Amino acid sequence: MMQWLKDLIGPASLPPPLGEGGGGGIGLSTGSLVAIKADVPPPQPSPRGGGSKTTQRAEPGETLAKQLALVIDLNVCVGCHACVTSCKQWNTSGSAGPLADERPYAANPTGTFFNRVQTYEAGAFPVTETVHLPKSCLHCEDPPCVPVCPTGASYKRKEDGIVLVDYDKCIGCKYCAWACPYGARELDEERQVMTKCTLCVDRIYDELLPKEDRKPACVKACPTGARLFGDVKDPNSEVSKAIRERGGYQLMPEWETNPANQYLPRRITQSTDAQG
Ligand code: SF4
Ligand code: SF4
Ligand code: SF4
Repeated sequence: MMQWLKDLIGPASLPPPLGEGGGGGIGLSTGSLVAIKADVPPPQPSPRGGGSKTTQRAEPGETLAKQLALVIDLNVCVGCHACVTSCKQWNTSGSAGPLADERPYAANPTGTFFNRVQTYEAGAFPVTETVHLPKSCLHCEDPPCVPVCPTGASYKRKEDGIVLVDYDKCIGCKYCAWACPYGARELDEERQVMTKCTLCVDRIYDELLPKEDRKPACVKACPTGARLFGDVKDPNSEVSKAIRERGGYQLMPEWETNPANQYLPRRITQSTDAQG
């Protein structure tokens, strides 16, 4: 766990976990992070899938054998927002939704999106380029959003490393949003629960879907194939090979969250002068 988080949070700065058996998951004790044993069963998968019925929570700092993640190729992303809209559609119609939209057609609209594309202009005029950066929860291997949660709503799955929120336990206190250095958490203003990317856990394990559809909605929707999905702990997976061979990197590694999602960098190409 990151030292800055250990230093920042202490017994005086957060309330204790909700009562005996009311929280489960991870709580705080004198200056250190400890596991509070749950006497409530772990969250069950949604009717549409979500993994095995024996889902367990990873312990803080535990090294997992499997870690599902997205790998996003910044060289290929064209900023079309297909991943944003497909994510919104899938999750709104599934167990996570409906995802709220506040004043969608008025000034200053806000809404709940698990995935957003941020667009930047890089370089100095006249030599500039446009970079599109899709960003959702990075499913950190050492996620600071988990130990700060006072109710145990926020947790990391032991079986595949996906970080989830149990909406029934979330009290909307926003501690996790404060702890996440990537701004990946989204408060659903209507339900007052914290939400975020689920890695489409209700889709990737759904045996009712054809095998080729058991991928995150955003991966399926991307028209340029900029989004890869798989197990970054498996050296032979498509994502591991892409990271290895194309210089995959983590976002802001200095925060020591060890984000599972990674990015493939822009590749510099030289234009040739056809008339030369
Ligand atoms: Fe938690 Fe943020 Fe990491 Fe997602 S990106 S696991 S919300 S710290
Ligand atoms: Fe936990 Fe919900 Fe508070 Fe986040 S907002 S820390 S998930 S109770
Ligand atoms: Fe949205 Fe699913 Fe993609 Fe996460 S994996 S950004 S929930 S579509």
